[in-house]
Amino acid sequence: MEFSQYDVNALMHITNRPSLVFTEGRGMWLTDNNGKRYLDYLQGWAVNCLGHSPQCVVDAVSAQVGKLINPSPAFYNEPSIVLASMLTKHSCFDRVFFANSGAEANEGAIKLSRKWGKVNKNAAGENRYEIITFNHGFHGRTLATMSASGKAGWDTMFAPQVPGFFKAELNDIASVEKLITDKTVAVMLEPVQGESGVIPATREFMQQLRALTKQHNLLLIVDEVQAGMGRTGELFAYQLSNIEPDIMTLGKGIGGGVPLSALLCREEVACFEPGEQGGTYNGNPVMTAAGIAVLTELLKPGFLQEVKDKGDYMAAQLRKLCVKHGLDGERGEGLLRALKLGKDIGPKIVEAARDLNPIGLLVNSPRPDLLRFMPALNVTTEEIDHMIAMLSEVLTKLGH
Ligand SMILES: *Cc1c(COP(=O)(O)O)cnc(C)c1O
Repeated sequence: MEFSQYDVNALMHITNRPSLVFTEGRGMWLTDNNGKRYLDYLQGWAVNCLGHSPQCVVDAVSAQVGKLINPSPAFYNEPSIVLASMLTKHSCFDRVFFANSGAEANEGAIKLSRKWGKVNKNAAGENRYEIITFNHGFHGRTLATMSASGKAGWDTMFAPQVPGFFKAELNDIASVEKLITDKTVAVMLEPVQGESGVIPATREFMQQLRALTKQHNLLLIVDEVQAGMGRTGELFAYQLSNIEPDIMTLGKGIGGGVPLSALLCREEVACFEPGEQGGTYNGNPVMTAAGIAVLTELLKPGFLQEVKDKGDYMAAQLRKLCVKHGLDGERGEGLLRALKLGKDIGPKIVEAARDLNPIGLLVNSPRPDLLRFMPALNVTTEEIDHMIAMLSEVLTKLGH
């Protein structure tokens, strides 16, 4: 292997990686160090919303790197102002804070709602700080966002962790209502649970949540790190249910692959005072220039309709695959979809698909009985057909 002169163990072991090294990517395709090509339905974990190395991001980043990399977050820079203005213009939010990862944006959302709960105290004059989140939800890997996540064991893995998070059940409004106390300040959820296996919150549930949070003077926080930026066929997933949340976080797709995330809120909620929030790289012009390039592309006439159409097409093809191979069905929104296998063969399929020759297929199995698809939003129908054919080949090979 071309890389054997280096020690792969120099990298901290935090996940089991296959012994492959990827060297190039373009659109839906990745190439490894042996020259083998892969059709990529992971796309860097749903971050490459326009595929690998899209020309518009390459051009925007190259131009900005040559012009100004980082004047410091203590000064204004042009790309961050432009991107913030574009985001507020096309959403129900008024203020934007840029960060570098989804977890950091969510950490900011938690801080902002706790601050708001300090300003908007309860009847007894106490600070409100409890946040209701959801079982199986995922919000990141910092101490607070792990506590907010609903993965089994995640709130105690690095104990003592951050207290104040209580877990309800998605699509069960009574389970949320039951958890409201006089210390509750917010409800936080993914409009489509991603890591837990692509489970959409229903329109009805989102509307019930909005009504319930208004009634109790609670903030509604949507974590759109995975489901935002066109992924569902709407620019933002909350738009699917015609509601207006108070706070939203964006990540993954917003940078088209580079580290960029955002915390957005309505003006009434923007209660940080100078010194309470910040970060060295936050809102730097290189990453926000990438964000402008991405958002400009998503806003082109017809782009989001195409995402919806491709999502429908992919859903139909996945349902045909289910009939052919006796699988359980599919679900999702737009181009965030999952295939229900009905048995725990996900990890085996992931491996066999990767090992196909001469072309491999990259898919993800967030749960052993499920495959998840996070293609580029500009994936072609041919690339969807190609993926379905390869999956069918793998299923046949494995005897299903
Ligand atoms: C990926 C993800 C995060 C964490 O984002 P990072 O950039 O990995 O910190 C948070 N919330 C959701 C819904 C995600 O999918």
